[in-house]
Amino acid sequence: MGTRGKSIIQVDANQLITLLNKAYADEWLAYYQYWIGAKIAKGPMRAGVTSELLLHSADELRHADMVATRIIQLGGTPLTKPEEWYKMTNCGYDAPTDPYVRVLLEQNIKGEQCAISTYEKIIDFTKDKDFVTFNMVQQILQDEVEHEEDLQALMEDIDMMVARELR
Ligand code: FE
Ligand code: FE
Ligand code: MG
Repeated sequence: MGTRGKSIIQVDANQLITLLNKAYADEWLAYYQYWIGAKIAKGPMRAGVTSELLLHSADELRHADMVATRIIQLGGTPLTKPEEWYKMTNCGYDAPTDPYVRVLLEQNIKGEQCAISTYEKIIDFTKDKDFVTFNMVQQILQDEVEHEEDLQALMEDIDMMVARELR
């Protein structure tokens, strides 16, 4: 990293790199969980669910890119092997073994809630101490909050539709 850029960081860089690599693992797993979920989804409002999952998968991949870029700036190396994603992840991987849209949404909502907690912690860690990481994580957190809301709204619509049809 540039020497002047490094001089303005007031956190332990190695500790921060580990936190970011853990988030990086989460982003790749979230990306794939959304991507494969969009491929296999079945049930009410399939088209709406599929397009939302696909949009979110693209966001998660973009987050992975942002986090990797920052890890490199800090003098670290983003995880180089997919097997490390499983070892480092905070939020895990919820395999979409049931393709029903509502089950997929539930799994992804859980993932988003975990992502929100993860980035909240990194925000606390970098607040007033690393402006660049803080700003990046703030942007990502904004997306994760939006993701959770999008999925919960979709779930609400599906539940309303199913309830009306049962009447
Ligand atoms: Fe993300
Ligand atoms: Fe997300
Ligand atoms: Mg969305």
